[in-house]
Amino acid sequence: MMHAWPSGFTTKRKDGERITDQEIVEQVRHAVLMQRLPPGTRLPEVTLCEVFGVSRSVVRKALTRLASNYVVDQRPNQVCRVRAPGIEETRETFDARRLIEGEVVTLLAGTLPVDAMVELERLVQLEIDAFERGDESARIEHSLSLHFKLAECSVNRVLGNMLTDLVLRTSIVVALYKQAGSCYLPGDHDNLLAQLKKGDAQEARASLYRHLDSLEALLELSAEESAIDLKSILGQQA
Ligand SMILES: [Zn+2]
Repeated sequence: MMHAWPSGFTTKRKDGERITDQEIVEQVRHAVLMQRLPPGTRLPEVTLCEVFGVSRSVVRKALTRLASNYVVDQRPNQVCRVRAPGIEETRETFDARRLIEGEVVTLLAGTLPVDAMVELERLVQLEIDAFERGDESARIEHSLSLHFKLAECSVNRVLGNMLTDLVLRTSIVVALYKQAGSCYLPGDHDNLLAQLKKGDAQEARASLYRHLDSLEALLELSAEESAIDLKSILGQQA
């Protein structure tokens, strides 16, 4: 089992302390986002205990959190696996996110506090810097942080919480279906912030829709799905 686990995980802290469940969550989530742990990968508790040098209770806590972040599927009496959302779920996730985030930015246009805008602009700059030095891992994190910040600022708390959830879900389906290379969309975040600053609610929503449409268009959700569906249906009938 151990040989299947990819390298590059931090299994001990610098101070010699054991790592926490939250740190395991971050590392596994990150490995999924960077496609180092592909969809469907089995995550047996015993392997995670060995890899991270922690007890089963710590691993279980981490897996429960990863399940609530849509990173893994946890089913009773089954080994946990990295989630493998289908094409239909991917499209539905984008549809839901357009609806919710579109409303969040509409309500935020012209009402964002100055310190929140400063933080959002800082995140845009960090994303650009990460892209320019070819650090895709950092770029993804900064890009997600920007959308989490919008969720956090949401005037409507329920919509904000739904958006946090949808950003997590989108990040997983993007990692799964993206084609080779970066999903960086130059200028999109800048443009959205400009509309929010201007206070143009309709333009802010339109800018956000364009951004999510472009991101979805980078994914491989092509005609292959009908071929795959057809095969499985024919297979069942045979
Ligand atoms: Zn974005």
